[in-house]
Amino acid sequence: MRVYIVSIGYVGRDILESIKSGVESSLPGLVCEIPNDIIDLPREAYNRLRRQYLSEPILGEVLRYALKLESERGGPCIALGVMDADIYVPGMNFIFGEAQCPGKAAIISLFRLRPEFYGERPNHNLFIDRAIKEAVHEIGHALGLRHCKNPLCVMYFSLHIGMTDRKMRQPCGDCIVKLGRKHPSV
Ligand SMILES: [Zn+2]
Ligand SMILES: [Zn+2]
Repeated sequence: MRVYIVSIGYVGRDILESIKSGVESSLPGLVCEIPNDIIDLPREAYNRLRRQYLSEPILGEVLRYALKLESERGGPCIALGVMDADIYVPGMNFIFGEAQCPGKAAIISLFRLRPEFYGERPNHNLFIDRAIKEAVHEIGHALGLRHCKNPLCVMYFSLHIGMTDRKMRQPCGDCIVKLGRKHPSV
């Protein structure tokens, strides 16, 4: 399975590269690529009162992008959109990311992954570690994995950043078995 990692709005190439190598080592068998495209943030997704973007239309843009790449390049793919703006779904204050499960589109937001957001000192390695975990989690959904009950598994649902920090970058043994049944090559 090929995974295209694409920025939504501006995200530094170095961040995308770090996410790419983290995803490839957490989910061996996936081939990641960073195309030279940027998906524009859909203006209609912005909620002025909340100062956040509604996730669903952005996920829709990422899906359109995935379908376009599939028809141009052939072969199944997942597109992971990485954005710096804050995102939400109705009924929740925020989300770290969202994905079709299973499907071709996933997104993550970096907005709440920097320690500075929580009033802590900048820590680039911690920031990247969190981004990789969120990316692997959402790609796991796109590959058909649902939430896992094991708090150390990357597929555990993070309600706050402490839960992300506690998780591994990899799926647990049970999730790896499930993934193997769905996608023998991953
Ligand atoms: Zn999830
Ligand atoms: Zn698991």
